Amino acid sequence: MGAEAFLSGALRGYYAANEITSVPEISMREFGIGEFGRKISSRHLSFRDNAALNHFLREKAPFYISYSNALYEFPGARPMEAKKMAGADLVYEFDADDIKTACKESHDSWKCTSQKCGREGKGRVLACDACGSGTKVEEWVCPECIAETRRQTLKLISFLRDDFGFSEGIAVNFSGSKGFHIHVRSESVRGLSKGARLELLDYLTATGLDLNSLGFRYDKDPKKRSFVCPRRSLAKGWAKRIFRTIESAFESGDASKLAVMGGTRQGAAEKLLAEKEKILGHMDFPQGGVLLATKGVDANKFWAAFLASAVDDAKLAKEGFEGNALGVDRQTSVDINKIVRVPGTLHGSTGLCAKEVPLEKIHSFEALDECVVLPESDVLVSNARAPRFYLGKKWFGPFSGEDVSLPLYAAFFLLARGNASLSDESVP
Ligand SMILES: [Zn+2]
Ligand SMILES: [Zn+2]
Repeated sequence: MGAEAFLSGALRGYYAANEITSVPEISMREFGIGEFGRKISSRHLSFRDNAALNHFLREKAPFYISYSNALYEFPGARPMEAKKMAGADLVYEFDADDIKTACKESHDSWKCTSQKCGREGKGRVLACDACGSGTKVEEWVCPECIAETRRQTLKLISFLRDDFGFSEGIAVNFSGSKGFHIHVRSESVRGLSKGARLELLDYLTATGLDLNSLGFRYDKDPKKRSFVCPRRSLAKGWAKRIFRTIESAFESGDASKLAVMGGTRQGAAEKLLAEKEKILGHMDFPQGGVLLATKGVDANKFWAAFLASAVDDAKLAKEGFEGNALGVDRQTSVDINKIVRVPGTLHGSTGLCAKEVPLEKIHSFEALDECVVLPESDVLVSNARAPRFYLGKKWFGPFSGEDVSLPLYAAFFLLARGNASLSDESVP
């Protein structure tokens, strides 16, 4: 049996035992499916209800299935215009690949694309350090980088609720691979234009955020010479987030953190901490707040640096590698014709379930444990090549070409990404 048939059998087993009911207003959604090695092979599918979708899944067991964040009158019609859009949910996507974490040095690797050179190494290097050619990077995930996408997800939810006022219809699911998808499915977002969606995204990533217009600025008037701010207890939106960061930095009592954020010396930060009550109090003056410093600390310099780091800390990750990618996927976020993984289905590149996560459980959700849904029965694979990887509460590997017996879910994970072959001896 080839790998494809084996993987397909595992998917079939899952859909035979599990009912998918995660798509709201299912009859108005466009669906797309993918096959082995191809995430989207056909689109423009539609299902009148959950029963029809589940019948299809049991019959075809596709490697990937996605649905539209848009609602259409005729979801199966083509071209796109004939579908007649009736609104679209908001969807955000966090992918560990786009967020810098230290763990990538240990589990990612690169190989020079020049045949003559053949140099390789650890981490995520985009140009060969020997010959300058491009590289092929092999990406893996671990609990640490998934935890970072979880942190970003929680940050986003706080923005959605507190700053945008979306209290209804927020749903989160694991992407099935390297991160999380956040859906906002309420009436209040359905009519938003592409431009409005882009504005929301810019707000989240602090793109074009102007501290001056928020009321944070240095008053050069010789009589004043102070850093003014809006009144702390009345602040909203970004100003409130900035104050929250200021408060937590001062409340933590961590002088070295304060020194780093404000670009000052440890000693100066200690002096500032000693005057914590006074400093926090002055931010809440009824006639307008003031950001105080202390003797020997330049208020302008300290607060300008501190505010910049506070914004950096509070915004959603925007830096991808080499500045190419956005931590929060810009395309997914504003493309209203996009299709995204159906929650509760399996991701054909990993065998992991795109499980829905109740909002109150996100902070402790261990995707690489809880999204393992395939059987644990042993499967023999050959020529396994992998760094040490984590799945289902266990570490596996590293493997460098050996034959190894793995639980089916881990065998699926390696076979699907082409990092092992199915052994002739394995009888699934
Ligand atoms: Zn090279
Ligand atoms: Zn990692």
